[in-house]
Amino acid sequence: MALIVQKYGGTSMGSVERIEHVANKVAGWRARGHQVVVVVSAMSGETDRLLKLAKSISPRGSRREFDQIAATGEQVTIGLLALALEKIGVPSRSYTGWQVPIRTDSAYTKARIQDIDASRLRADCEAGIVPVVAGFQGIDETGAVTTLGRGGSDTTGVALAAALKADECQIYTDVDGVYTTDPRVEPKARRLDKITFEEMLELASLGSKVLQIRSVEFAGKYKVPLRVVSTFVDGPGTLITLEDSMMEEPLISGIAFTRDEAQLTVAGVPDRPGIAAAILGPIGEANIEIDMIVQNVGADGTTDFTFTVQRTDYERAMEISRKVAGELGAKGVNGATDIVKVSLVGVGMRSHAGIASKMFTALAAAGINIRMISTSEIKISVVIDEIYLELAVRTLHKAFGLEDGAKPA
Ligand code: ASP
Ligand code: MG
Repeated sequence: MALIVQKYGGTSMGSVERIEHVANKVAGWRARGHQVVVVVSAMSGETDRLLKLAKSISPRGSRREFDQIAATGEQVTIGLLALALEKIGVPSRSYTGWQVPIRTDSAYTKARIQDIDASRLRADCEAGIVPVVAGFQGIDETGAVTTLGRGGSDTTGVALAAALKADECQIYTDVDGVYTTDPRVEPKARRLDKITFEEMLELASLGSKVLQIRSVEFAGKYKVPLRVVSTFVDGPGTLITLEDSMMEEPLISGIAFTRDEAQLTVAGVPDRPGIAAAILGPIGEANIEIDMIVQNVGADGTTDFTFTVQRTDYERAMEISRKVAGELGAKGVNGATDIVKVSLVGVGMRSHAGIASKMFTALAAAGINIRMISTSEIKISVVIDEIYLELAVRTLHKAFGLEDGAKPA
């Protein structure tokens, strides 16, 4: 017998029929002898609707009230699921965040969980009752309702699993797992059986929007095994776990990419100490996040200083850079927004040489020019022209043997 926390997302709660389907799934796990604690999201689209309502009255209104409003979506679905469970003979009880209670700080709309009193949930499990807990919400020390940020139900699920020392936290969603890359770009993308927390963080932050990133950090920190599974198609899903529990590590687990990139180059900067700080300081002060940085000295002794930012920050970054370039006596600033970042991710990289050269060789053979490169222990990223995105992803997917049935290279 295992204790399992199951989190069902908005699509899984999207209609009365779907909620009844979820109730049947929960009943099945219970019938097989497991204790189940359920966490749910609001019906799909509901949180957007509620926040739109709030903003229609006062876009810059009190965040405390935004949370009060947004948290109601989950209060509806916990009650509906508890009713559906009861109807099929499964004793169940619903809990809002404050009824558990899940205590958080007061950072409304992005609160952090501080403490969970799991005693009621534990007592329910012992008594054969299935607790259904509202995701995404908690209560602060003033007694106000808080929310954990969009997609926060994943974090509720993981936090409850940690507090209950559950055997597994299962995230039920509309995809059947984590894939080697986006199947819309590479139809041969394959579901991964297992992946490490670290790899998932790299894949998630780079655009595989399966899980809230914070929930993966949380799961890694508290060593809660996480499983991404489909609500609608039975299957093993993808287990996200610790590295040393993996039997045989694949070299490369996946290929992530993001279109949200822009590049700026401050050209012909005099090569002297303090240049990087002079350029990047004001960018940072404007709260613009810098991703990759490349600096190289040309034959004439001046430096070209190139960096990337999110596309939405491009105009502002350009304005600031032009100003700084003028002050430094640089030749000028140029930039590009038609670029993307493609990343190879895998913990197996740590113990294998030659991955980077293999990546560059494959891209070169496909005629793809690399504009920038950056590496970390488990990731190699390149910036390329946007028109080559699909070609690059497919080329690398093939080169590293990630497609269905292929032998890992
Ligand atoms: N309902 C919330 C949202 O849409 C929380 C969640 O679904 O995880 O962001
Ligand atoms: Mg979600």
